[in-house]
Amino acid sequence: MDFDLVVIGAGPGGYVAAIRATQLGMKVAIIEREGLGGVCLNWGCIPTKALLKSGELYETLGHLEPYGLAVTGRSYDFTKVIERSRGVSKQLSSGVAFLMKKNKIEVIEGTAKLSAGSPAPKITVALKAGGRRSLQAKHVILATGARARTIPAIGLAPDGDKIWSYREAMTPKTAPGRLIVIGSGAIGIEFASFYRSLGSEVTVIEALDRILPVEDEEVSVAAKKAFERRGLKFKTSAKVTKLAKTAKGVAIDLELAGKAERLEADVAIVAIGITGNIEDLGLEALGVKTGRGHVVTGPHCATNVAGLYAIGDVAGPPWLAHKASHEGVHCVEHLAGEQPANLTAPIPGCTYANPQIASVGLTEAAAKAAGHEVRVGRFPFKVNGKAIAAGETEGFVKTVFDAKTGALLGAHLIGAEVTEMIQGYAIAMTLEATEAELMATVFAHPTMSEAMHESVLDAYGRALHI
Ligand SMILES: Cc1cc2nc3c(=O)[nH]c(=O)nc-3n(C[C@H](O)[C@H](O)[C@H](O)COP(=O)(O)OP(=O)(O)OC[C@H]3O[C@@H](n4cnc5c(N)ncnc54)[C@H](O)[C@@H]3O)c2cc1C
Repeated sequence: MDFDLVVIGAGPGGYVAAIRATQLGMKVAIIEREGLGGVCLNWGCIPTKALLKSGELYETLGHLEPYGLAVTGRSYDFTKVIERSRGVSKQLSSGVAFLMKKNKIEVIEGTAKLSAGSPAPKITVALKAGGRRSLQAKHVILATGARARTIPAIGLAPDGDKIWSYREAMTPKTAPGRLIVIGSGAIGIEFASFYRSLGSEVTVIEALDRILPVEDEEVSVAAKKAFERRGLKFKTSAKVTKLAKTAKGVAIDLELAGKAERLEADVAIVAIGITGNIEDLGLEALGVKTGRGHVVTGPHCATNVAGLYAIGDVAGPPWLAHKASHEGVHCVEHLAGEQPANLTAPIPGCTYANPQIASVGLTEAAAKAAGHEVRVGRFPFKVNGKAIAAGETEGFVKTVFDAKTGALLGAHLIGAEVTEMIQGYAIAMTLEATEAELMATVFAHPTMSEAMHESVLDAYGRALHI
């Protein structure tokens, strides 16, 4: 046996699983065909946050007057904005290389494919350096991630020029003057927010009747208003029938309330979801069960094939880095005979636009649909001292409780820094805190987090500052 564990894919699912496995005494190899850190560090979470920071600073420089400040000659160097983002990715990817070395994990550069083997499928790697290498391990974890979903039949696919997926949107030569973003999930909204910060005219198209459709409805409504105040435009309930390149840019045909409409722009970003990397891995021949673009998994991330596990994006939604890492840790702890952390722990989700959006647990509608009688609390940042002092009064905190048991079912936030605050609720939900424990928690003053406390108090008619 070559290894106790071979991990295919070195994204936040795969590389974290590999580290945890070595901590538990396993001999581990990881195979990666592109860049250590996967989509997350190279093309996703991290480089977008670097871009968004540049955009946010630039936008803030245009709104300094209320703070008694002024700046002249505000400008940006787009090439440097992109270079900084790529540099941040590179730094973090090198960090993963260091961690692999430190943990004595063998990194194999190449593309892996599976075939029948025992006690787990055999792995053949087409090495980047040329040639092939065969490996047999006790356990194999598939962590091959996902890529942008496309619908080529109606032009919703990157064309290497004017129609971009997230990859092209992260490294263009110039910021587009007029941009259409198709899809208003987190990825679409983050790019829309970034390019709007730099002055692009941005229109976001959404097939459903509201933007950020996975979020609580009140948050979706507030987000749309806040983004519109920044000049973003939206077309909701809009079905794209065709996207095509024109002499000057792109043209998009829509069906809106039964009427046809055409929009034109310089560039379009297609952000209509993602699909798992399940092809060319030998899964069909092994009889690995897949469905809806991902590998189907059962308890402890096991597939239906002995010795084969799947984690992260390739194993289905939510498509989030921390979900991938959590599954990776859970899976290897199980393999090592440990008692792993609960796989169904609440997973927060964040959108790093301006304003930010963060949530965990059930929306109010989902809680009701699941049969809960709910108690809902709300607290706006416009009456929070720190928010007023910081000039960040947009948004609110909403909490959803089970009226009978006091269990915190969900929390939904919009405003500055809420992507940092959400962790408080994630901890509370993981520890199964009740409303009484949350009310008895002392929140530091002045903080925006006090709005979290007040929102809980409000659910029980006890809010103090409203
Ligand atoms: C623009 C964008 C922004 C995002 N922002 C966030 C965010 O803010 N927060 C968040 O939580 N999530 C975010 N995500 C999602 C996040 O990037 C993914 O959920 C996460 O990367 C999934 O991790 P993973 O380990 O499952 O897969 P990946 O990170 O996709 O890694 C899979 C790796 O497997 C490799 N691979 C695939 N097939 C093979 C093969 N046959 N052989 C060898 N190697 C292979 C790939 O090259 C890749 O490196 C974002 C995604 C995008 C696109």
